[in-house]
Amino acid sequence: MKLVLAGSARDLIVSHSLSVRPLEGCGLIAGSVNDGVKKVAKAYVLKNLDQSRVHFTVDQREQLSAVRDMRALGLAPLGNFHSHPDTPARPSEEDVRLSFDPAASYLILSLAGPEPVLKSFRVDRESGAVEEEPIEIGEG
Ligand SMILES: [Zn+2]
Repeated sequence: MKLVLAGSARDLIVSHSLSVRPLEGCGLIAGSVNDGVKKVAKAYVLKNLDQSRVHFTVDQREQLSAVRDMRALGLAPLGNFHSHPDTPARPSEEDVRLSFDPAASYLILSLAGPEPVLKSFRVDRESGAVEEEPIEIGEG
């Protein structure tokens, strides 16, 4: 499935992840699904309770308030994002193990190279299958 990411959401993911570097940044993405296209309208930054370069755990209270905001705006939760300060933009073994929703999009932003690289994946933790979803930057 193609994922169309609002430019403002992409900018927030990149700027937040750069600001917490060298730790991992994380958050949620929300929007809508129509005709086989996922549209991400908004990203939510969440605190990484692990304060780690290689792990993240979201703050449950912040997550709840983000989900409330999604409901108020009529947006559906579509997945999450996190950054890899030192490694490529692909799911680690732990990322696969902790991917509980095969329908969700898992965005990973790598800051390991000269330019940030953002990719989206769907993960089936039962089989370990990882499928990259093409990202298009959209309006908004
Ligand atoms: Zn990761």
